[in-house]
Amino acid sequence: MTEQENKKIGKIRTRFAPSPTGSLHIGGLRTAAYALALAKHSNGDFILRIEDTDQKRLIKGATEKLQETLKTFGLFWDEYYVQSERSKKGVYQKEAERLVRDGHAFYCQCTPKNAKKQGYSEILRDTCRDKNLNSGAIKLKIPDNEKVSYTDFVLEKEINWDTSLVSDTTLLKSDGFPTYHLAVVVDDHYMNISHVLRGHDWLPSTPIHLLVYKFLGFERPIIGHLTDILDPDGGKLSKRKGSVSCEAMIKEGYLPEAILNFVILLGWAPKDNREIYTLNEFIEVFDSKGFQKSNPVFNREKLDWFNGYYIRQKNDEELLELLKPFIPKGANIDKVKAIIPYTKDRIKKLTEFPTLAGFVFSTSKEVEPEIVSDPNQYVTHISNATQSLEKVNNWNLASVNEALSGTIQEHSFKTGGFYMDLRTTISGTTITPPINESIEIIGREETLTRLKKGLEKAKK
Ligand code: GLU
Repeated sequence: MTEQENKKIGKIRTRFAPSPTGSLHIGGLRTAAYALALAKHSNGDFILRIEDTDQKRLIKGATEKLQETLKTFGLFWDEYYVQSERSKKGVYQKEAERLVRDGHAFYCQCTPKNAKKQGYSEILRDTCRDKNLNSGAIKLKIPDNEKVSYTDFVLEKEINWDTSLVSDTTLLKSDGFPTYHLAVVVDDHYMNISHVLRGHDWLPSTPIHLLVYKFLGFERPIIGHLTDILDPDGGKLSKRKGSVSCEAMIKEGYLPEAILNFVILLGWAPKDNREIYTLNEFIEVFDSKGFQKSNPVFNREKLDWFNGYYIRQKNDEELLELLKPFIPKGANIDKVKAIIPYTKDRIKKLTEFPTLAGFVFSTSKEVEPEIVSDPNQYVTHISNATQSLEKVNNWNLASVNEALSGTIQEHSFKTGGFYMDLRTTISGTTITPPINESIEIIGREETLTRLKKGLEKAKK
């Protein structure tokens, strides 16, 4: 237990505070899941707060999308706030003006040419700080030669800064909107947030927040910064190897429960080596001592493994519903349904289903036979297969099996070679679900049409 954690805290209240500047990415999902688990493990509250005070960066519809995505993952919030709405009520302005009155902040009328994103500044000490202006933007008057520190409950260490290296920072912009630095402190205080959990890239803003807490006379929450998720190629996770946006990953055929399970283990580990967690199981076992100190690597093979696992847990009806968005319009749904049991343990992503099994529910117009073996042998195999299957009247798996194994025996064909020719003719590929089962589902007429198409192609 750290000094801060020992401090008596009432109800645990955490928040996820995204800015609606794009879609929810893997790192955001992880922060939200940890914040929710931290609160819910102790029957606390989880708050969603939309940090939309940087009006220039807003993307239309992003807030709604964020909410929708969080719900898709089962991450529901108890309370909801929007900073721009609170700003209109003067919540932040009031505190900024109090800081000016108390001598901890000052008005500034410079054009914000040196102001960087979210009120960071390149100028250490602003030239307006001693001008006693009474209108304009409000900036924090950073004291010199002071040490500010806190104990990070994720990293489990004290982190400190010398204020001489911290720039005078904008708190309230001339448009009346607060910057992140003011809004986050005021909201975390008035919303009774007990624990702040956020990404590592927010660490440089923490000394500013610590000073604002102090100057406003607020008790500060327990603060923790999560490790960075690394790309397998090095550096921070990026889009180079594939999507990192939750929405895009779902479109790529990942199940939300697989993404979530994968993500919670990126930077948190249980005491045992257990890997499979539903959200509720995760909440139950969650312990902040499980946070890892070293940066996790985003391993796509591991994600695929989780996804394959969760696909196999679905029953055939559930899987059919999940597969529907990935199946071409007009596909024969009965055939789709029939092939699902034979594909379930062969796919790792839903998008792989039409690639693997599309030939079962497509027509022979769409399937082009492939010939991968010696053409003479191919013709012998396929013409004999055609003759024996033509004789099958009662088309079912047993009769298809019988006809094909009869042909193999009668002509002493090598089983592997015979089935490979049959497979490439029926499907156009070398990798398929079990071929006799596929043939049964495809049906007599369609199967014979494809075999004839293959023979014609071989004779050309
Ligand atoms: N609005 C910040 C973000 O977009 C929140 C950072 C914090 O949690 O303090 O991530």
